[in-house]
Formats: sequence, structure tokens, C-alpha cells
Amino acid sequence: MSKRPNYLAAARAVADAADIVLTTHINSDADGIGTSLALAIALERLGKRVRFACPSKPASIYAFLPRFGMAQTVDNDAAAAAMAPCDLLISSDCGDLKRLGACAAIRHGKLLNLDHHATNDRFGHLNLVDEQGTCSGMVAAKLLDKLDVAIDREIADNLYATLVFDTGRFMHSNTDAAAFRFAAKLADAGVDVSAINRALTYTKKPHDLAITRLGIERLTVDAQEPRLAGIAITRADIAAVGEPEDWGELVDVPRSLAGNQVAYLFREGKDGQTTRMSMRSNPPFQVSPVAQAFGGGGHLQAAGATFPGSLADCLREVIPRLRRQLQD
Ligand code: AMP
Ligand code: MN
Ligand code: MN
Repeated sequence: MSKRPNYLAAARAVADAADIVLTTHINSDADGIGTSLALAIALERLGKRVRFACPSKPASIYAFLPRFGMAQTVDNDAAAAAMAPCDLLISSDCGDLKRLGACAAIRHGKLLNLDHHATNDRFGHLNLVDEQGTCSGMVAAKLLDKLDVAIDREIADNLYATLVFDTGRFMHSNTDAAAFRFAAKLADAGVDVSAINRALTYTKKPHDLAITRLGIERLTVDAQEPRLAGIAITRADIAAVGEPEDWGELVDVPRSLAGNQVAYLFREGKDGQTTRMSMRSNPPFQVSPVAQAFGGGGHLQAAGATFPGSLADCLREVIPRLRRQLQD
């Protein structure tokens, strides 16, 4: 059903622009940040004036990425309005305009929506949405190919981080031959793959481990459906431990249980009015329909949304839906 991504049209839009702003989704991750930085480096090589605006402060764990210092936080309308207009705004790894936060208000000629999410709602003037892409970094690499930009070490390091992160170190269901071919290409470009893996994995702070401990304490296997397990964290829990900069891969804790097919992490917001949902599944089971039912999105087997209510309401409404996903 989805239209084939038009790489040439996107390359033409990039070629035509002199001033480009890169942006990505709120609470961005290695895919959104790495893709934007890789594009930033490459577009500078093409002689473009390039800026990189993040709608929320990028987590410091990503500071090892080459040119991380380019990222500027634009998390309110005044900051977006203060930015000089650009010819082209490139959104990477973001499925809908809402998830661009204040960066959606950056003044631009055209908006290029570069992504790989199945639920992407095609919010750009140009939509380079490639659902075959393992990560947004792979979509960006194909675009750079069309622009005849060589993948140097700095670009490759950023792209490798996008690949490792979105495949869960080559574990998730999006890991296929194309993912390994991309990895080999990046390794050929000089990436120290082990160093990137360590930087993404072995850089936890004691506080992050305290969050992991809290997650293990709150781990529940569903009484009716033992293939469903998750972690529900109240705002009091979070207040007691302190909010981490990044919630990392806590949802992998329930996922790691033998026999688990659907996993969730629910975290209550500070005011108890919203609950952040993060869900994972193994094929053929799907979690994106559940995320979409609450205005969120993602991939078939990795999706998220913000539930409009307390943690208790979220559990009451969402757990039965997750059980139902396992019945199909
Ligand atoms: P997360 O559970 O936050 O790691 O997100 C899993 C996947 O779903 C990622 O690819 C996210 O970009 C996507 N995602 C998470 N939350 C939302 C949302 N509210 N709207 C659209 N996509 C989302
Ligand atoms: Mn992402
Ligand atoms: Mn992604």
C-alpha cells in the first residue's frame, strides 16, 4: 500500500537548498541523533550551511558521536522563532509532526520527512519514508549515495550507532541481510564497531543502574497471559529514585524472560495525568496497533505512545489490549 520512497526527489530537494536545518523526534535516540549528525557532516561537505536542532536536550550518553556538539536544544516556541529561517528542514526518524515538538515551528521553505516507521503519517512536503530501512540511518545512507557523498569515518561512526541501536545490537526482528550488508559497508569505512557498542552499552552511571533495580522490583508477569510481562512505574517511584536522563532499554528486562512475547514499560508522568508507554513484541505479535489506538506509533514490534491518564488507568485499559494481541 505504501508508496515507494523517492530518493531522487529527496536528493534534488537537498541539492536545491543552501541552508538546511536537521531535526529529529523528542527524547531522541541514537537513530534520530546519529542520522541527523551523519547528514549534517555530509551536507557540510556539499557546501551547505547546516544546523541541527533537537526538540529536547539530547542525552549525554550520545556525546561520543562525532560532531555531537552541533546539536542545539530548541524546546520552546521562542527558541524556534529565534532561529533564522532555512530553505529545507529535514526531520529524521520521526513519525508525526507532534513528535517534533517546538522544532516543527522552525521556519522553513520545504520539509523533508526522512524516516523508516511504518506508522509515519507523511507530514512532509517530501516524504522519504522507507519502511524497508532497518534504521533511519540506512535511509540517510541511501540518500547520501544519490548525492554522491562518500561515507567517511565520522559519517560512518554516526550511521553505525543508528544501526546498532535500532536493531538492539542485531537482535530485533528488523535484523536482516541488508542490515548486515550495511554494517559491513560501515566497517569497511573504518568504524571501530566494538568501541561504538561499548559507548552505547557500557557507559551507565550508578543512577542508571538504580533505575534498572527499580525496574526489576516492579517487574510483573501477567497472571492470565504468562507471555505478557512488563514494568509499571508510578510517579512516586520516579520521585524516589530521580528521573534518569534516558530510560534506556529498561523494557528489555521483561523481554528477557524465557517465553515472553509481549513486553511493556509504563511510566507515570509527574502530574499523574499522562503515562508514557513503551512496548515490544516478537513476531508475529504486534504492538503498534496498541500504540496507535492512543495516538502513538512506531514499528510493528516496537512502539510507543503517551496514554492520557494515570498509571492505574493505563494498566486497566492497555493490558487487556496487549493480551488480545497475543490471541491472534
Ligand atoms: P520507544 O518504546 O519509546 O523506544 O519507542 C519505540 C518505537 O516507537 C520507536 O521507533 C519510536 O520512535 C516509536 N514511538 C515511540 N513513541 C511514539 C509516539 N508517541 N508516536 C509515534 N511513534 C512513537
Ligand atoms: Mn528513534
Ligand atoms: Mn529509528
